[in-house]
Amino acid sequence: MADEFDIIHRYFAPLTRGDKAAFGLTDDAASIPTRAGFEHVVTTDAIVQGVHFLEDERPENIAHRLCGSNLSDLAAMGARPLGFTLAAAWQKGTGAAFIEAFATGLGEWVDDFDFPLLGGDTVTTPGPMMFSLTAIGEVEAGKALTRGGAKPGDTVYVSGTIGDGALGLLAAQGNLDGLSDKDADYLKGRFRRPSPRVSTGASLVGTASACIDISDGLVQDLGHIAAASGVSVRIKSDRIPLSKAARAALEADPSLLETILTGGDDYELAFTSLEEPEVGDAPLIVIGEVTEGAGVSVTGPDGEAMQLRSGGFNHFAGT
Ligand SMILES: [Mg+2]
Repeated sequence: MADEFDIIHRYFAPLTRGDKAAFGLTDDAASIPTRAGFEHVVTTDAIVQGVHFLEDERPENIAHRLCGSNLSDLAAMGARPLGFTLAAAWQKGTGAAFIEAFATGLGEWVDDFDFPLLGGDTVTTPGPMMFSLTAIGEVEAGKALTRGGAKPGDTVYVSGTIGDGALGLLAAQGNLDGLSDKDADYLKGRFRRPSPRVSTGASLVGTASACIDISDGLVQDLGHIAAASGVSVRIKSDRIPLSKAARAALEADPSLLETILTGGDDYELAFTSLEEPEVGDAPLIVIGEVTEGAGVSVTGPDGEAMQLRSGGFNHFAGT
């Protein structure tokens, strides 16, 4: 394995894209300027080989997942990305080609989201690889979106399409049959490379009453809004927007509806609002309403309340 300083200089320093806050990764820390009237939003997400990404996952896909999940958390707060720090623990003996591919994967996010690397640390480990990314964003002071502001009478929205991440993981594991190669590839791509809704999140500041990104699963994450806001969230399964590929999977196996509702890894936004929101980088679809009460209820395709095995109404009622 190449020398640590050599790795930083060769593969990571270019990811600062010359941002002054990073001092070219040659100083002890980054120094991020503050802007009057704004505050920083900071989030950290760590991923471990064999736990959060597949044992033999390609290095660029590890980078995609790391950036996607962290930017999605900034999006959920309505924050605009400023940059990130990274701690990387490479398995002993990791080759330069692997590190280069990982850095190339990161570079796509640096460019797409104007999200420069500002600092970090790189170490070797005798155990599985681990990567921890801290994303820093900014939002107008006091305006960050939270999970706690939903009120009875608000409408419940989601961005994009739901279920692709969980179905994509099934497809990547070879556990989703009866799909065309094109549909299977689409779902795998959505799992491996999330599309965090950064511009949608920013556009919801001042409009949405509560917001969360869907990482645990639509029903679980709406449950977090319900609990933090002290309200009940009621959604209809037939309103949930599906991709063409997810629709094909559901037609082949209707029991996948539960996976779509609870599976996670969507990295879309779910939010509540009294006003009609402006559309950002994804379509916004109404899936339900906020009422007094507690927990999440899902009306199924037959018009009856669904009982979800992996959670669902009873579990999320907070009883
Ligand atoms: Mg989140």
